[in-house]
Amino acid sequence: MKPTNPAQMAGRSTEYADMLLLRFGEFTLKGKNRSRFENTMLRHVKGMVKPYPKARLIKEFGRIYVELNGEPAGELLEALAKVFGISSISPVKAVKPELEEIVEASLRFIEKVDPEPGTTFKVNARRVWKDFPYGSQEMNHLVSAPVLKTFQALSVDVRKPMLELRVEVREHQAYIFCESIPAVGGYPLGTNGKAMLLLSGGIDSPVAAWSSMRRGLEVECVHFFSYPYTSREARQKVIDLARVLSRYSGRIRLHLVPFTEVQTSFAGIGQDNLIVTLMRRAMLRIATQLAEREGALAIVTGDSLGQVASQTLPSMNVIGRATDLPLLRPLVMMDKSEIVEIAQQIGTYDLSILPYEDCCTLFLPKSPTTNPNLKIIEKVESLLPGYGERLAEAVAAAVTMEVTPHGNERPADEADLISSVKEDWF
Ligand code: ATP
Ligand code: MG
Repeated sequence: MKPTNPAQMAGRSTEYADMLLLRFGEFTLKGKNRSRFENTMLRHVKGMVKPYPKARLIKEFGRIYVELNGEPAGELLEALAKVFGISSISPVKAVKPELEEIVEASLRFIEKVDPEPGTTFKVNARRVWKDFPYGSQEMNHLVSAPVLKTFQALSVDVRKPMLELRVEVREHQAYIFCESIPAVGGYPLGTNGKAMLLLSGGIDSPVAAWSSMRRGLEVECVHFFSYPYTSREARQKVIDLARVLSRYSGRIRLHLVPFTEVQTSFAGIGQDNLIVTLMRRAMLRIATQLAEREGALAIVTGDSLGQVASQTLPSMNVIGRATDLPLLRPLVMMDKSEIVEIAQQIGTYDLSILPYEDCCTLFLPKSPTTNPNLKIIEKVESLLPGYGERLAEAVAAAVTMEVTPHGNERPADEADLISSVKEDWF
């Protein structure tokens, strides 16, 4: 579940490598979808490698090699470890398929890794090119003997070695590698369909977005704001959060929905403790209409069981019934500390803790109900004059932006965002 922190993991052998070997994750199990998944991954890898013009991609069954040709291995490793669907990366040394070259490179490789005394070791050679004069078993001995002689710190363990030096002999090159650095894993982006995610400015929902993308969902975000009660800065913060998320997807669509009219329609009902439940249900209804419009098949939220009044089980039950779409809550069973840790690793945490108000906190009653009654809530909603139209108006007034990693999007023009707000609210 946890992402890899590339700074911590950069392998010791990276600087000596000429290639990176990218291995695919669990999706390789899915028989007939395999080529679609692999092509999606290849496209994402190409996108990540684009800023490094000398790097070249070689696609093989179940893996991709990135030939570095002088491009920085560490930087590329860090970028590629974020690509969903890649399970691990090995820095690879490529040499001529000749015994002396292979032994020489193996020695230098181990030197870079600098094993501690007591490290157990084995060579795992594979002769892919059948005309190479030594077989796989023979190569294991021919390579391990000089390595063991040179590095006294190493002792052999053929069953569960701490360090496994892999040698693959192919016709044009032999590949040597010994580290397998964990990458983010999951499914290639968008290969499991599209969902509409409720993005607040908080810590949780960006983590829910990242977790969904990692499962192969394409995510579009919806954010509700309450002009003039929530500030321009609060909205910019959400755009900036979407920008961080777009680093993982290339781009991300963000729908900004004016929510003031809907919220104020709850003011006169005289039951403040129900407002949060009503507000959340309204958000889900609007998000559902947007999802249907945009072809998304699920709604995602950052809810975590028990976190606040609207996230008790009875509240989730009543709120969740406002949509017919599957309601996905990737963080539902996680502790806040686990969520925070992921937020830090994916780079959203520092933005999330900026102290701007959210539309929900503004209208928060003193004691929101933790145990709402569905019948009462439905009754209240049915008595709100023109409620359905208000929700539809909010959908129609949504402004859509496309956020990219290097863009500099500002909140859309105030004039656009508030076009549906009545005169007397200024
Ligand atoms: P977060 O959960 O993102 O940290 P939070 O904890 O302040 O923010 P909660 O009150 O826990 O927000 O809200 C639960 C979920 O409802 C959020 O994770 C998010 O999916 C959704 N949500 C809340 N406020 C908004 C908003 N203004 N716009 C869109 N979605 C929202
Ligand atoms: Mg939350």
